[in-house]
Amino acid sequence: MNTSINFKNASINFALNAHDFVVIEKSRLFRDISLESIEYLLNICQVIEFTPGKEVLSPSKFNSCIYVLLKGRLGVHLGDPGSSPHIVFEAGDCVGEMSILDGKPVSAYVITQEHSRLLMIHQEALWALINVSHGVARNLLYILAYRMRYGNEALINSAKIQLESERAAITDGLTGLHNRRWFSDSFKRQMQRCELDNQPCTVLMLDIDHFKEVNDRFGHLAGDRILCTVSKMLLNTMRPADLISRYGGEEFALCLPETSIKASILIAERLRKAIAKETTPFEEGKQLPPVTVSIGIAQMQPGQTLDALISSADSALYRAKAKGRNCTSE
Ligand code: GH3
Ligand code: MG
Ligand code: MG
Repeated sequence: MNTSINFKNASINFALNAHDFVVIEKSRLFRDISLESIEYLLNICQVIEFTPGKEVLSPSKFNSCIYVLLKGRLGVHLGDPGSSPHIVFEAGDCVGEMSILDGKPVSAYVITQEHSRLLMIHQEALWALINVSHGVARNLLYILAYRMRYGNEALINSAKIQLESERAAITDGLTGLHNRRWFSDSFKRQMQRCELDNQPCTVLMLDIDHFKEVNDRFGHLAGDRILCTVSKMLLNTMRPADLISRYGGEEFALCLPETSIKASILIAERLRKAIAKETTPFEEGKQLPPVTVSIGIAQMQPGQTLDALISSADSALYRAKAKGRNCTSE
């Protein structure tokens, strides 16, 4: 049996002691098994000790052993060995079984967290153990089932994390509305669809009036609350098919697909009047007074780009501000 395994900074060739057998009896691989029938195989395995911070397994090194942890702690590090451990194994746990069974490199770094003592079972000894003991085979199945379930959960969790970070990238942290990053692609898609269907499409640029004064008078936190109120009003007032985004600061961009300029003006007016009535709760029952908004509206022209349409809506917004604010303009 070839057991010539090279470890730097590890002491090899200890004999199993009485305490080791106590741990082995309770270990995941050997629990509920009469050790007498397999003791001769255990005694040909080597015992190895590592000081803290040493690599037991690494994706870059071939592995031919399963290790039962007799004493100490092992950290499993995904990706970077310097990262914090994904999971920590304690006495009685085992590592390395997957790569022995599928012959592939190990998928993570296994590093000692403290001085650790391990039973090193070479793959040939493992197969011999499986052949003579149904109990070892059964326990190995349990271990693999646990690893698969754990792997699936980790996979689901990382998919959730990815979805969450994708969502965060297109969401404004303060108001929960979509942000400017999302707006460009989504607006362009709606514009194309309306153009293909020969339907009108409008863009509204909405800006809170004298918002600087609101901040100066009530504080930045109050200003933030008002931004949230206006966002809530947008979500409550607009139709589900309309696209709403925080364009930046106290400015919002809306896209109304399949909506004529005439209908858009009515919708914008309804929105403007609703916002002008809405107070914002702030500090122990106090209410911040309503703010007003100015809205610029532009209808998409055939072949027009999003930038050009936004620019038209911006000019209309400028006209609304010039008219005295708290109004809409096309
Ligand atoms: P106008 O009627 O011409 O639009 O005047 P305005 O004061 O609303 O416009 P101005 O561009 O002078 O000021 C915008 C203010 O909006 C200044 C900025 O501090 C404030 N602001 C931008 N983003 C935020 C935010 O996230 N929170 C708060 N509280 N204030 C913000
Ligand atoms: Mg403003
Ligand atoms: Mg502004």
